[in-house]
Amino acid sequence: MRDLLGGKGANLCEMAHLGLPVPPGFVITTEACRQYYADGGRLPEEFWESIRGYISEIEQAAGHLFGDAENPLLVSVRSGAKFSMPGMMDTILNLGLNAETIKGLTRLSGDERFALDSYRRFIQLFGKVVLDAPEEEFEEALSGARQKAGVATDAELSAQTLQDLVRRFRKIVERVSPDGTFPDDPWTQLRMAVEAVFRSWNSRRAIAYREFEKIPHDLGTACTVMAMVFGNLGWDSATGVAFTRSPETGVKELYGDYLPNAQGEDVVAGVRTPKQIDKGMAEEFPEVYEQLSEIANRLEQHYRDMQDIEFTIEKNRLYFLQTRSAKRTIFAAVKAAVDMADEGLITKDEAVLRVPAADFAQLYLPRFDESAKAQANGRLLGKGINASPGAATGKVAFTVDSAIAMAERGERVVLVRPETAADDMPGILKAVGVLTSRGGRTSHAAVVTRGLGKPAVVGCEGILVDPHAGELRANGHVVREGEELSLDGFTGEVFLGRLPTVVPNVDGNRELSKLLSWVDEARRLRVRANADTPLDAEAAIHNGAEGIGLCRTEHMFFAEERLPYVRQMLNNAQASVQLRQRVTDARELAKEDSSEAAQQQLRQAEALLAESPEWQAYQDALEHLLGYQREDFTGILRVMQGKPVVIRLLDAPLHEFLEPYERVLEEVAALRATEPGSPELAQREQDLAAIARLREVNPMLGHRGCRLGITFPEVYEMQVRAIAEAACKLRKDGIDAHPEIMIPLVADVAELRELNPTLKYVVAQVANNEGVELEIRFGTMIEVPRAALTANEIAQEAAFFSFGSNDLTQMTFGFSRDDAEEKFLSYYVQTKLLPISPFNTLDERGVGRLIELSAKEGRAVKPDLELGICGEHGGDPESVRFCHRVGLDYVSASPHRIPIARLAAAQAAVGDSTRRDV
Ligand code: ADP
Ligand code: MG
Ligand code: MG
Repeated sequence: MRDLLGGKGANLCEMAHLGLPVPPGFVITTEACRQYYADGGRLPEEFWESIRGYISEIEQAAGHLFGDAENPLLVSVRSGAKFSMPGMMDTILNLGLNAETIKGLTRLSGDERFALDSYRRFIQLFGKVVLDAPEEEFEEALSGARQKAGVATDAELSAQTLQDLVRRFRKIVERVSPDGTFPDDPWTQLRMAVEAVFRSWNSRRAIAYREFEKIPHDLGTACTVMAMVFGNLGWDSATGVAFTRSPETGVKELYGDYLPNAQGEDVVAGVRTPKQIDKGMAEEFPEVYEQLSEIANRLEQHYRDMQDIEFTIEKNRLYFLQTRSAKRTIFAAVKAAVDMADEGLITKDEAVLRVPAADFAQLYLPRFDESAKAQANGRLLGKGINASPGAATGKVAFTVDSAIAMAERGERVVLVRPETAADDMPGILKAVGVLTSRGGRTSHAAVVTRGLGKPAVVGCEGILVDPHAGELRANGHVVREGEELSLDGFTGEVFLGRLPTVVPNVDGNRELSKLLSWVDEARRLRVRANADTPLDAEAAIHNGAEGIGLCRTEHMFFAEERLPYVRQMLNNAQASVQLRQRVTDARELAKEDSSEAAQQQLRQAEALLAESPEWQAYQDALEHLLGYQREDFTGILRVMQGKPVVIRLLDAPLHEFLEPYERVLEEVAALRATEPGSPELAQREQDLAAIARLREVNPMLGHRGCRLGITFPEVYEMQVRAIAEAACKLRKDGIDAHPEIMIPLVADVAELRELNPTLKYVVAQVANNEGVELEIRFGTMIEVPRAALTANEIAQEAAFFSFGSNDLTQMTFGFSRDDAEEKFLSYYVQTKLLPISPFNTLDERGVGRLIELSAKEGRAVKPDLELGICGEHGGDPESVRFCHRVGLDYVSASPHRIPIARLAAAQAAVGDSTRRDV
């Protein structure tokens, strides 16, 4: 019933049903919260009447009376929404205290110090949450009192000091209260607290968190009212947080922190550094420890997932105050999922679904180089708690504001704070890593960064952080804002300066291998790689690629020693256009006119072309490039043996290969002035003329892809020859080479009809010459909307479609990625004009429809038409799910995203009834 009761409320009710020790209470539903907002921030009187009835039920169950001076009932008023938003909303403890009831509490507990401590906590929380009282003033009063008394912790303050604090705390609140008083009537307190909890749903930090986590804003929070239990009732009492497995590693152990003689937030807030459950709780609280272990286990069995539990011990009696499924690192997610499946707690399919695909890449995250760390001895600033994994290097910011300012300047920021609270969230979101000097593994900083997948080191006590002075001191160093730090979230170490990182060895991870084997059994989509070099191809295979879905050839053209030949090829292809046209005309004429004159004219035109220096230079360039390309393809096909390699013929816009026109123009002008008549000038003038001939107004939409292949047919012929020769050579050596050829940027089937026959003829010729049996499939990229819309025609000429979703997105939206991302797309996303960048996640409503339509119409013509996607979307989990749904055969992703694509494909299949049964 999470929708209605919130996660916290629902789970509390469920724990109560299971018979676990939960303090009595009731839950005000999210419906009431929505009503509160709908009615302009108020609730009807009948509502408050009914609350009185429920309180009396608590009174009966708890054996105390609300507002009673002799035997007072105190309650907590807790927020809790459908989706966990840890620390984002407010909770008030010890509600019901005033000058009268405090006497009762003192008598009941026989401990004045405890009663006053509870009272000052209530005033502080109530003041802060309900009346917006300035938090620092409470903290200043507290630390002043600690100093004066000469004690380190609040738990050591005397009753007399606490009495004083209560008075001062009340003053702080009275100053900000609208009527200048502190509300002493418990019913008024309750009403104000419930309304404040509802209001906290729309606090700035809660809204920011929902935006980040993509939680809808209209759900509202529930509000749990429950009898207080006291962890601050002496040294046989405590409060704590326990995980049923380590949220860092996933190892099955009771993991967590506890703090004797403390209440509620003390563990999370990092006020005192807590004790670890596995180090001492079994001795300090033997019976409770047993009970906690046993119930933790039961909760895990019940919810069939790793739990994060809040508990309180009151005079050696254990109470459960919350349970929820635990946030965990990706390492813990993999291990816990596989272990839980092995234990029979969940199925393999569920294990596959439990690992968040979006975080999967973290497993492959770089770590700091151990040898560099070993040599960085003098730069070790300290070692804290390794709260969230990863390696972060960045410049220090001591405040949220400077973190934001630095991040906006494009710098990588490490946020350094004594401890963090919800208000630090905007800075944490901008930072690449977080360091705190206080707080434990369950502190705000630790929990939040783990959720965000950002490296963090917390509780690094050796580091003295002084945000006011803008510096930190540690191990003899003084580090100021803007200086670089390296945080090792795997080990908790903090270094001055920058450390080099290395890529981890994931092969040794037993659970990961196991999970991936389940993933591969479950998925229907095949996963290929976008790889242009043998090195990329090796990485792709290592990560589990089943082929190459996109091998671009233009990168092969950019190498320094090749670029001159590429330019020579393009310039002279263009320069030969007229002579070639004459041959074409003469050939057309000779076809109709069989006279000797016509034949003569054709021979002449052919000779003229063949003997022209432009044509010869063109052929010479092609000859060189043929050699290079043959080597390139041999390398990749060898690595990929047995697996398909889809090679896309040249596609890049021409200007990428040319020297910038303006620069050459300037050079020519300068040479004309300084060295008129020099051979160098003549050469540069020639170059300039060539560039001018090839120059385009809009190269992105210009003479590229198959259009170039059609007007300069020798270019694609050379590439196809190189592919075919490489394949034949490898096959003769016993290596099973499987190239496939992909024609880019097709808009009309006529383009394929023009190109395919000649190119297929080249393959046949090579195969014949080499005496090798070679079949190469020809397919096309669908990346122009018109191609998608005429898929039924194009399918007739293509063995496969590969959706070039980057270009298809650009052309469907009508904006270029580079310009859009720099100029307006982030604004669109920020202001929610668009929900997300269509370059990150496939735009299903527009681009996706084109894909779906061409898949369907293409297959109607050719049922065995193979369908894949080769844009960057192939590595995005959401987009992969879409590809599964519309029935593509494979996705192709960059090598480092292959594991993500495999997992996302499996999750799509597992969640789909048409999946292959395993
Ligand atoms: P959050 O969502 O920020 O964790 P909670 O509502 O869980 O807020 O409460 C804050 C702290 O107060 C937690 O440590 C919780 O265990 C403690 N707490 C809440 N209600 C009670 C209660 N009735 N008795 C004792 N401690 C409580
Ligand atoms: Mg809680
Ligand atoms: Mg393209």
